[in-house]
Amino acid sequence: MIKSYNTLYHTEEDLIKLRNDVGPYDDENVLIQIFTYLNDLEAIESIKSEVLEVFPNTNIIGSSTAGEIFEGKAYDKTTVISFTKFEETKVKTLFIDGITRSISDLEEQADYAAKALSADDLKAIIMFSYGVTPNYTYVNVLPFITRLKKHLPDSIFSGGVAGVYNFDSTKLSSTFTESKSSHFGIAIAGLYGKDLSVINKYNLSWIPIGKKLVVQDAQDYHLKLLDGMTPAEVFKTYLGEEIVAGLPMSSAEFPLVLERGGKQMLIHPSRIYDDGTFEMTHHLHVGEQVKFSFCHVGLLALSANKIYNELLDEEIQTNFMYSCAIRRNVLGEDIIVELSPMADLSNSAGFFAYGEFFDEGVDEYHRLGQTTTVLGLREGKKTDEPVEEQKLPSYKFTERRQFRTMRVLHRLVDKSASDLEMALITLSQLAHKDALTGLYNRGYFDQKIKSEMKRQGRTDSPLSLILIDIDYFKNFNDTYGHVSGDDALRGVGACLNQLVTRTDDVVARYGGEELALILPHTDYLGAELVAEKIRASIESLEIPHKSSLVSDVLTVSVGFVTLNEPFDVEEGFDSSLLIEACDRCLYEAKENGRNRIMGTVYKK
Ligand code: GH3
Ligand code: MG
Ligand code: MG
Repeated sequence: MIKSYNTLYHTEEDLIKLRNDVGPYDDENVLIQIFTYLNDLEAIESIKSEVLEVFPNTNIIGSSTAGEIFEGKAYDKTTVISFTKFEETKVKTLFIDGITRSISDLEEQADYAAKALSADDLKAIIMFSYGVTPNYTYVNVLPFITRLKKHLPDSIFSGGVAGVYNFDSTKLSSTFTESKSSHFGIAIAGLYGKDLSVINKYNLSWIPIGKKLVVQDAQDYHLKLLDGMTPAEVFKTYLGEEIVAGLPMSSAEFPLVLERGGKQMLIHPSRIYDDGTFEMTHHLHVGEQVKFSFCHVGLLALSANKIYNELLDEEIQTNFMYSCAIRRNVLGEDIIVELSPMADLSNSAGFFAYGEFFDEGVDEYHRLGQTTTVLGLREGKKTDEPVEEQKLPSYKFTERRQFRTMRVLHRLVDKSASDLEMALITLSQLAHKDALTGLYNRGYFDQKIKSEMKRQGRTDSPLSLILIDIDYFKNFNDTYGHVSGDDALRGVGACLNQLVTRTDDVVARYGGEELALILPHTDYLGAELVAEKIRASIESLEIPHKSSLVSDVLTVSVGFVTLNEPFDVEEGFDSSLLIEACDRCLYEAKENGRNRIMGTVYKK
């Protein structure tokens, strides 16, 4: 059985009272967490020494905060002391000092930390890290955590990035253990116990809305081009001047949401540059898609109740909340909707951070943003007493009409955006197709032959082109009429489409009654095989053609060309030369009696 004793610390008397409440304990079974608005190291050392006077030899980890959480409520300018007494679980702390932006240093520090913390019964890691320099520039502790997670895959990570009171950008955040404190460190507590169950949850509740925006230029944290505009222009276009005027803070209400590794992450600018580009809170990759997102308290309540019920079912005995300062800033008073239920479950304490550490022990570690995380702990087995379906926490959230309006509006906007996206996709597909035959059109063919030739130049694998022309088609039209001519053309197209099986192959209507095939990775013999198959297949369609001078049925003549050597763009080689060579073969096939194929290997 675990029990936490939390207190708002003002004077020594609060500590003495806490000492009385706690009763007997073993040093090694105790974790004290201190969350304080103070960032000054001297002040922190003085709190620590007072705590250690009352609780000598105990394990302490702590962090400066951008707000404190105490028994379901948000506070400011206080110090919360959380004393957790375990029965079996042992606690070990570690402080890594001298964190910099150097990835190799961070990884080396993680190797060291893993060695110091590793043990069979290590279940959870709580860590508070330095992470934001003044002016909100992120120091990426991700390499440290990712590496640590690799070493300790079975333990669950929790905690957050130290914050500063009132977002004061002139101040440095602080983290500490019982023995050290620093502006540039990571305070870590390992929880060890065979009987310890660790249940980690997080609440995001921001939902994507509107158009997908594509990241077109980005380098690490620096976002330069989003959906054809600078990020500043995107924010102005979609969120309006009033949000742009308040950047970077104002964007927190409508952060960009990115799905990566199955988790939704909120990201926003941390710094605005004069050229309209942004420094972001997370790195972005070119090609990734983001959307704006928003939250309202109705959504918040729904997910908070869900987490409450999940933790209730797990029969947790204590919980720690590591939430986000920006989230709290945006939600204001409403944050009680998600904090309060956790205090119904067990004693609960935590703080508002500049980023949350989270993993569920199943896949990769994630650094979240703008979420509230809850770390629930239990020693021993569940009693498995059946829990009533969907209990409600004591805090009664009343849903007002606006929330329904918001939900419906959200659906309206989102459905409209996805309809438009679908329409755009259909349109662009249509733009590539020929109306009569349903094959790709000339425009697409021209584009494709160019890109395939480029690819051929890079991969050095052969590329073949086939041109097909119906024999005596003018006569066919004159004899059977244009409508039958159209039907025949469609039939020939469909036949070609069936013959072609490789996904990279392209069948297009080159013009009139001429069709074309692009066959990547196909050599001369391969192309010859396809060309002959085409000729024979059309013949065997047995479309009557009594005015043909070479057969009773409709036939085609086929020219093909294979490009073996990588071409040199510098030498002015382009697709028209290949098409001309192919056309010459087609002409020869016609000259030599039609209903036949003629090919060549392209030579410069
Ligand atoms: P050859 O064997 O030399 O190719 O003789 P041909 O009559 O096929 O040659 P030509 O290029 O002179 O004529 C092509 C004809 O194809 C002209 C036109 O009547 C017909 N044609 C072109 N496009 C279409 C079409 O979309 N529908 C129909 N029905 N006929 C078409
Ligand atoms: Mg023709
Ligand atoms: Mg013809």
